Amino acid sequence: TYALGPRISSWDTDRKAWLENNPEFPNFVSRNKPRVLLLSGSPPNPCDNAIGDHYLLKAVKNKIDYCRLHGIEIVYNMAHLDRELAGYWAKLPMIRRLMLSHPEVEWIWWMDSDALFTDMVFEIPFDKYKDYNMVIHGYPDLFYDQKSWIALNTGSFLLRNCQWTLDLLDTWAPMGPKGPIREEAGKVVTKFLKGRPDFEADDQSALIYLLLTQKDKWMNKVQIENSYYLHGFWTGLVDTYEDLMAKYHPGYGDQRWPFVTHFVGCKPCGSYADYPVERCLRSMERAFNFADNQVLNLYGFGHRGLLSPKIKRTRNETVRPLENVDKFDIRRSSLHEK
Ligand code: UDP
Ligand code: MN
Repeated sequence: TYALGPRISSWDTDRKAWLENNPEFPNFVSRNKPRVLLLSGSPPNPCDNAIGDHYLLKAVKNKIDYCRLHGIEIVYNMAHLDRELAGYWAKLPMIRRLMLSHPEVEWIWWMDSDALFTDMVFEIPFDKYKDYNMVIHGYPDLFYDQKSWIALNTGSFLLRNCQWTLDLLDTWAPMGPKGPIREEAGKVVTKFLKGRPDFEADDQSALIYLLLTQKDKWMNKVQIENSYYLHGFWTGLVDTYEDLMAKYHPGYGDQRWPFVTHFVGCKPCGSYADYPVERCLRSMERAFNFADNQVLNLYGFGHRGLLSPKIKRTRNETVRPLENVDKFDIRRSSLHEK
């Protein structure tokens, strides 16, 4: 059967020894702050539709901004590391490659190209995940009771760099090779999962299937998270932004100020989509500007409206600029919380 690479079985001990021998590359950047690498990517070729490339660029800028503000490293991949795992499966070989090439990274954070940070202040509560190796947004009842194909979302999730994760990837990937294997696996997961249309196996359905059919093996290390939007489905969120701006402020990460807005079912870059492309593009523009306002705040600017790429001044120039640094710098606000 298909394999991501040679089977590795001593990663925990090998990595531990490497970390001991390379103290200049610690896996914790401070006592409670693990080293995190955000990984995203998109296909190697231009979008079918040029506007799609523009929104991919905005989504990349959004991720760079968040990572810069929170001391997270970022990799954007546009190569197909494995021809058999093209499309949504491409994240698996990328994640494995980065884990093995960056033993200093403690957590790999996969984020889809069509997911945007919309809370620039919120930080992942890593302390909470000390005993877990995977953190994924979802709902335990949809997962355990309903076996729903949308119980978990693989658009934004965390994996610890450890042997457990290599084993999970090794078990997950064999359902992915393009062609008859992926087609057959699609039939299996459609039969097993509630609500799933009949199509080739996608990485999300395959993961839910695998975790449900091998619960005892994996679930003690998987945290299903829904106390904040590690992934947030866009349709319920993008129309609430003005209301949220009137009532709340960034930092909550939940329905009061969603951490991530994910454009599931929108394909401005490719061909097939579940929603009209105009609605998708307008909503992405709103999400981007909602987030960008939080970034521009330090500099005293903001967008004229959530649909406008144009900006305006939000306060006057001052001869005491450092007062504004104290007040508006997001990096400082996250320092103060700790
Ligand atoms: N992706 C990639 N390379 C590809 C195809 C997809 O890196 O050749 C990534 C991209 O970040 C995308 C994610 O895989 O957002 C999920 O793929 P999918 O086709 O499901 O796109 P989406 O539903 O996110 O638009
Ligand atoms: Mn997506």
